[in-house]
Amino acid sequence: MSAVYSRTWYDDTCVSQSWQSSLVIQNKNFDFCIVGGGLAGLSCAYHLAEMGASVALCEHSMIGSGASGRNGGFCSAGWAAGSDQISRLVGPVVSKELASIGADGLKWMRARAFSAKYAKVQPISGIISLGLRGYRPEINARLDETELKEFVVGPRYKWGKIDNEAFHFHPLNFLKIFSQEVVGHGVKVFENTGAVQVSGTEVCFSNGNRISAERMIWATGGYSIGKNSILKKFLLPIQTFICVTSPMPTILERHIPTKMALGDDRRAGNYFRRLPDDRLLWGMGVSALTQRSVDSIKRMGWKNIKAHLPAMVEEMKRDNIKFDYAWSGLMAYASHFMPYVGKLSDRESILCGFGGHGMNTALIAGKRMALFLSGDPNILDPFLEIPRRNIFGLIGRLGAEFEYRRLSAIDYISETCGL
Ligand SMILES: Cc1cc2nc3c(=O)[nH]c(=O)nc-3n(C[C@H](O)[C@H](O)[C@H](O)COP(=O)(O)OP(=O)(O)OC[C@H]3O[C@@H](n4cnc5c(N)ncnc54)[C@H](O)[C@@H]3O)c2cc1C
Repeated sequence: MSAVYSRTWYDDTCVSQSWQSSLVIQNKNFDFCIVGGGLAGLSCAYHLAEMGASVALCEHSMIGSGASGRNGGFCSAGWAAGSDQISRLVGPVVSKELASIGADGLKWMRARAFSAKYAKVQPISGIISLGLRGYRPEINARLDETELKEFVVGPRYKWGKIDNEAFHFHPLNFLKIFSQEVVGHGVKVFENTGAVQVSGTEVCFSNGNRISAERMIWATGGYSIGKNSILKKFLLPIQTFICVTSPMPTILERHIPTKMALGDDRRAGNYFRRLPDDRLLWGMGVSALTQRSVDSIKRMGWKNIKAHLPAMVEEMKRDNIKFDYAWSGLMAYASHFMPYVGKLSDRESILCGFGGHGMNTALIAGKRMALFLSGDPNILDPFLEIPRRNIFGLIGRLGAEFEYRRLSAIDYISETCGL
């Protein structure tokens, strides 16, 4: 089985769903049909229903089975593209607006994640950015190499910077609890129901059922891009990988003695965090081409951790610590790393392309899409400045793979030469 669908640590530790998936009622009329039960689709559905609309949401598999329920669980401000990149793309004024929208997304997520109702999300404040290269004058308020050892003990890490507003959490539990709120608002959620065709107001599902909806919103993430003739022009499905060790409290206490999450500053970076049951979650790598098996992700994990925390790997071997889980997930990426949030036609809208930074952005873009569809004409203006760029099919995939390898090589050279 492809690791894109393999069982995750989140699946084995999630709360049970407290609502039942709806059964499709033939020819039922809705104001909106949202395709995709990730954070983007759920947020849009929630906010539309809150404003009184009748909403159907169809999910090909189960709520949270896409990237939103199998990701690293890091939530911070910002977008998949860096601020300089965004400024070059849309100019400094819109770039500032987008930064503020991303920050609003973090605030919204934080308020929910740290509330009593979301206790099972087990949020922990603090994400440390780790510098692998030498001194960077533009980074203020840094931990130096000695101070950093209180948080992580690895020969490659040169400095750190703590973001206390950011947090990490159990993303699948978040989706399970959020979907309960969505259903509570009256949204009809159809699981195991893929949307396969749209003709006028009619939406045909993979199970043969149909509904009618005035407007459609495609919030399908990286999962069915190839099957949608419009989305595949602008977005690439990109895989990324995670593995999780067996519990190792003593080893973690010695080598990663913090409950905060950590991520390095490589162009194609690694990120890791201690899970509540004392396992290590390690995320790494991307690919536009290769489908990896669970075993090959575990091998990649060993190699990767050994390169950064060699002493810890020795102790893991000594204590027979294994990877109990390994999986991948698909993200949707545009060539400029920014999402597409806007109309495709009078009836259809797009809400996709959050890349590897969706936990704040998918949520807030979903909310803004709902406000737009409910009659706020200017709320999506900053997103409309993001140009739609063709990714040219296989050429785009090959280009993305080449770019990732090029960036990895630059990382390797700059780290080993101390640049
Ligand atoms: C392994 C991994 C680690 C990541 N780590 C982080 C992280 O730590 N922090 C962070 O901010 N971001 C992270 N990301 C990115 C983040 O998870 C995504 O940007 C975000 O979840 C995108 O949300 P979404 O709703 O657009 O897509 P998804 O969550 O993928 O949801 C799309 C849903 O649409 C469904 N679907 C697709 N086609 C159809 C169809 N035709 N009919 C019905 N349903 C359909 C899919 O089954 C899927 O459930 C990570 C991603 C991955 C894969």
